[in-house]
Amino acid sequence: MNALAPGLYIVATPIGNLGDLGTRAADILARADLLAVEDSRVTAGLLRHIGIKRPMTPYHDHNADAVRPGLVARLATAAVALVSDAGTPLISDPGYKLVRDARAAGHAVVTIPGPCAAVAALTLAGLPTDRFLFLGFLPPKAQARAAAIAEVAGVRATLVLYESGPRLAACLAALADGLGDRDAAVTREITKRFEEAVTGTLSTLAARYADAPPKGEIVIVVAPPGEAAPAAADEVEAALAEALTRLPAAKAAGEVARRFGADRKALYARALALKAR
Ligand code: SAM
Repeated sequence: MNALAPGLYIVATPIGNLGDLGTRAADILARADLLAVEDSRVTAGLLRHIGIKRPMTPYHDHNADAVRPGLVARLATAAVALVSDAGTPLISDPGYKLVRDARAAGHAVVTIPGPCAAVAALTLAGLPTDRFLFLGFLPPKAQARAAAIAEVAGVRATLVLYESGPRLAACLAALADGLGDRDAAVTREITKRFEEAVTGTLSTLAARYADAPPKGEIVIVVAPPGEAAPAAADEVEAALAEALTRLPAAKAAGEVARRFGADRKALYARALALKAR
């Protein structure tokens, strides 16, 4: 077996179905001098599947800052493969600082792309894919989560989020509150036995999961503004009237425009008219 050139190899691994490990990924794992892994027990399972054993060293959120300089130094003479427990390293997983520092130190950085739950979810959701914004995990606390949602309410793109089963219903309800009741998909256990994609509006999905938190791994995909049935004009008007009780006209128009994906200038004009009444 030829030795690999020294450097950092970013290796994507399956998100459930081990059959999704690419042949190039398996080859790099087999030939790397060292695997930098999130959890050696998880990676050992993958290595067993392809019938190899390789030396492993932990690289995860809790030790990354401490071990990174040593790992970067090793790249001068060793081929180090970075893998996470599932999917593509760096995507809601550690790694970007390692890539940055490896390149800054003049070492080769090579990627072996493969499964990623965010992209797999987009392929299942049946929502527009021409523009999407990956949000990773939203903050778990309600106030910080609402603020994070408000920040992206006006973005004209499909939104992709990671979430856990116990928090799913609350997250969907917060998304409905902050974005308006858009179309969405809850994709679960992708590539595994119970893979599913459940579609509906954010509020119907929130209701569906409120008393029945699902098991397994989840990606939420939310349509861009304007994809859901447009809000009734009287609903927008009522929201504007309510916002005007709290905010000046420009801010009220902005808030309601973000929430309903409506035109801010038109709402501002309407807000001024309402105030003049
Ligand atoms: N790096 C990974 C990737 O490329 O997707 C993501 C790592 S992140 C720590 C783990 C989250 O990804 C899970 O909590 C879940 O939201 C999502 N995820 C991972 N595997 C999944 C699967 N098979 N089905 C649905 N979501 C999955």
